[in-house]
Amino acid sequence: MKHIRNFCIIAHIDHGKSTLADRLLDFTGSVTEREKQDQLLDSMDLERERGITIKSHAIQMEYTFEGQDYILNLIDTPGHVDFSYEVSRSIAACEGALLIVDAAQSIQAQTISNLYLALENDLEIIPILNKVDLPSANPEEVTDDIVDLLGCDPEEIIHASGKTGFGVDNILEAIIKRIPHPKGNYDEPLQALIFDSVYNSFRGVETYFRVMNGSIKKGQRIKFVATNKEYNADEVGTLKLSQVVRKEIKTGDVGYLITGIKDAREVKVGDTITDAKNPTTKVLAGFEDVKPMVFAGIYPVDTEDYEELRNSMEKLQLNDASLVFVPESSAALGFGFRCGFLGMLHMEIIQERLEREFNMTVITTVPNVSYHAFKRKDPDEIIIVNNPTDLPDPSSLDRVEEPYIKATIITKSDYIGNIMSLCIEKRGLITNQTYLTTERVELTFDMPLAEIVFDFYDRLKTVSKGYASFDYSPIGLRASKLVRVDILLNAQPVDALSSLIHADNAHNIGKKMCEKLKELIPRQQFDIPIQAAIGAKIISRETIKALRKDVTAKCYGGDISRKRKLLEKQKKGKKRMRQVGNVEIPQQAFMAVLKLN
Ligand code: GDP
Ligand code: MG
Repeated sequence: MKHIRNFCIIAHIDHGKSTLADRLLDFTGSVTEREKQDQLLDSMDLERERGITIKSHAIQMEYTFEGQDYILNLIDTPGHVDFSYEVSRSIAACEGALLIVDAAQSIQAQTISNLYLALENDLEIIPILNKVDLPSANPEEVTDDIVDLLGCDPEEIIHASGKTGFGVDNILEAIIKRIPHPKGNYDEPLQALIFDSVYNSFRGVETYFRVMNGSIKKGQRIKFVATNKEYNADEVGTLKLSQVVRKEIKTGDVGYLITGIKDAREVKVGDTITDAKNPTTKVLAGFEDVKPMVFAGIYPVDTEDYEELRNSMEKLQLNDASLVFVPESSAALGFGFRCGFLGMLHMEIIQERLEREFNMTVITTVPNVSYHAFKRKDPDEIIIVNNPTDLPDPSSLDRVEEPYIKATIITKSDYIGNIMSLCIEKRGLITNQTYLTTERVELTFDMPLAEIVFDFYDRLKTVSKGYASFDYSPIGLRASKLVRVDILLNAQPVDALSSLIHADNAHNIGKKMCEKLKELIPRQQFDIPIQAAIGAKIISRETIKALRKDVTAKCYGGDISRKRKLLEKQKKGKKRMRQVGNVEIPQQAFMAVLKLN
């Protein structure tokens, strides 16, 4: 135990966590020449293509320092806010954290939020000034910023480059010298913290844990405290680049467990593993359940694929316990599912995984947050509205509440004006403004979640020329004036295009929706009127003009019906389109409300 160090790497997104993890693995000889590749721990294809970390990853390294062998357990974490709950779990399994700060970007919003998480868990913080190789690096100024933030000595900050490998030896030395070794008692009953789980289609759920007291042995009868379920520890081991089977994982160490569990929901991150016969009396402070932030419908492009879609979603859920879904039906789209996601990025990833891993072509409908509605006849009963069509008739409503967040934005003082205008446009209320240095300022706003989960990041990036970082946390619900804006195509309401909008913006948005849909819906052989309505009142109208006859005539030759069928099949395979009545609606149209500016 004295020679174990458990640590995580925390930073703002893109400050170089995954790259530095690669260098640590190289330096400690944890990977062979053949296994080497960039961002090694981002093992999902999707993570590699997008250059982001979605799942936390744990890996064990061995390192000899001053003649002594050490075991270093590294837990890499994702930086995107959609996945911030992953960070908090990793932190709870560690004694120390490498806090990485980009030498050109300095401290950003998630640097601070992740640092607070680490401090709440009493972790030893090792500040690292990364990317010192960059010509735009500004080590003196960024050092001052870090000293201000942490109250540390400048000498405590390690200069490093994940690109060149500079400073990696100093980081390893600091891990050994500054991070405390795990404490705990080998003779006490087993008490292990589950900090993550991963689904493997062959072996079922792999549970990652950190042993706080006692040990976990192969073949042991164990119990998960929160779920009160018992299992056999079929296999335990340590997490190297591939897993290494062991007979026992002892106090202070990190490992994996396989019990034959097939459903990711049985493994609750934050739960305690204990011995079934001799259970611990201490229960570790767990984590809160992950709450979905964004809801949207997912429908098969081909209605016949509904059952297959259900199967695929169930399998995906085994793998991603943060995905929730319930069946729903739409007058326009037929049978599908209302799904809850952690954020828009999570939603995109689910859609992509359904397509790649399960070969499903799906339509996702207009996303929305979760509202609470209260009727006049029973103003205390909460009606949860995860779908615009669930909003009760406005005449029966007492009030509607929407989720609010506290947004923290760090930027250069030049951009304060632009950012204020953006946040006010998004119904934000400024609550604080603090100068971190003479040029860098932290702004906090109370804002409706609905306004930020959609296009806020992109807008913020644009108005600040990239010099703003952003983080948020929920602060509860507040009353709001919401109305449902419905869309009619060919005079038929299309429920899947409805959205809930603040009453002050509804007319404007309804009008823009019609214009956008006119752009996005392809012309067909007849005129298609597009209307936006609030209740029975039409607030806007556009028309998609019919194609000229001769254009379509040219498209088809030979055996028309066969060819058309073929074409339709190809189209479905490639494009996400849904036929509603006699109008073909492409996937982008369902996202139109998010792309109005
Ligand atoms: P993460 O989001 O914190 O995991 O960051 P990544 O490790 O994915 O790195 C983000 C980007 O910065 C990638 O394009 C890396 O190649 C680059 N990068 C990371 N470390 C360094 C460094 O020390 N120097 C330079 N010049 N680039 C780096
Ligand atoms: Mg990463």
